[in-house]
Amino acid sequence: MSTGHAVVIGAGIGGLAAAVALHRIGWSATVLERAGELGEIGAGMSQAPNALAALDELGVGERAREAAVPSRATGNLRTADGRFLQRARAGDTPALLAFHRADLHRVLLDAVPPGWVRTGAEVTGVRADGTVTFTGGELRADLVVAADGIGSATRRLLWPDAPAPRFLGRTAWLGVAPVADQPGSVTLGPGGYFLIHPLSRGRAYWAYVTTCDEPGIRFEDEHAEAARRVRAWHDPIPALIAATPPDAVIHIDIRELAPLPSFVNGRVALLGDAAHAMSPDRGQGAGQSLEDAVVLAAALAEEPTVESALRRYDTERRPRSQAIARSAAVDGRVNTTRRFHRPLTAMIRLTPARLWSRSIAPDANDAWRWRPPRLAR
Ligand SMILES: Cc1cc2nc3c(=O)[nH]c(=O)nc-3n(C[C@H](O)[C@H](O)[C@H](O)COP(=O)(O)OP(=O)(O)OC[C@H]3O[C@@H](n4cnc5c(N)ncnc54)[C@H](O)[C@@H]3O)c2cc1C
Repeated sequence: MSTGHAVVIGAGIGGLAAAVALHRIGWSATVLERAGELGEIGAGMSQAPNALAALDELGVGERAREAAVPSRATGNLRTADGRFLQRARAGDTPALLAFHRADLHRVLLDAVPPGWVRTGAEVTGVRADGTVTFTGGELRADLVVAADGIGSATRRLLWPDAPAPRFLGRTAWLGVAPVADQPGSVTLGPGGYFLIHPLSRGRAYWAYVTTCDEPGIRFEDEHAEAARRVRAWHDPIPALIAATPPDAVIHIDIRELAPLPSFVNGRVALLGDAAHAMSPDRGQGAGQSLEDAVVLAAALAEEPTVESALRRYDTERRPRSQAIARSAAVDGRVNTTRRFHRPLTAMIRLTPARLWSRSIAPDANDAWRWRPPRLAR
């Protein structure tokens, strides 16, 4: 179809990617963000080849690569005492790029036309006909892209039967330390794992993910608690936590959304975590929101109406993102369940190095092999 105007709710990675994608196909958009200031809180993240392909199609691949560092985390698997179960080989091409979240967010924000984003604009009402009510007034759009995250108000309003996000029995501490030259690794301990990615500008991102009986348990000193839990683990784990500014340690519970029967209601499409919040264990949550944005824009560019474009978006995006969410939940469970620890580490240790290399190559699995549709220029 020709062009139109969209309201995008939320200026996280998903909402900004949607705005950039709409701009690429000649649409205009108003992005409503409830926060007073733009930016991403949080620590690091990795992006896999599928997400990088989406960033390329959004026209920001080069800038994204400049902001990131290749990580060998999937190649270097260790046990808590430091033994290598597998070790990245010099010839392996790292599949993952590691970003500070704020850096990836900035790359996308810079590609959004000036004046599109309104901060301090909390959306309180959304109707299927494209009417959006927010703290600054009301807008009517050809399309509403709801990228308002795991706690999406849009989902609550227009999908009233959808269950609330569910706790997955895991909790995580995250941080960024001013420590340079980390190659990236995953350490599997009994009942939890510790991830390290190198970041640009001499920093390292770490995350410790472990099981937990109930959500909402918090500690007076989260930095000390994270340090206590892995104090006997191999170098540089305790040192990385010690080097992290205490107020920069984040503690979150892992939650996901049960699969929705549709991502679309009238002129409203859910995108990113609002549609398919998933366990972080495959590093695919934000990557899936980038895919969503490209597929949505391609459908809008090629289909005759918004309705048919949204049908196509739902048909293409729902099965894939929900399958990846299912596999991420399984990976998270396997990697953190105590009784799986011995068989899991034995299996990894016994995998021939050449097979392991193949399993972490950039085209190793269906999630990573995805290729974006071309956006009309
Ligand atoms: C521990 C952890 C590690 C992760 N690691 C990775 C990784 O390595 N790789 C990866 O790809 N993904 C990863 N993810 C997932 C990733 O963080 C999310 O999938 C991604 O950030 C979702 O982006 P989003 O834009 O959909 O939602 P959000 O980032 O939640 O953004 C939603 C935005 O909407 C705004 N908003 C909310 N409600 C309203 C409203 N009513 N009105 C206006 N604005 C509103 C919010 O303020 C926010 O800015 C990880 C997640 C976790 C928890």
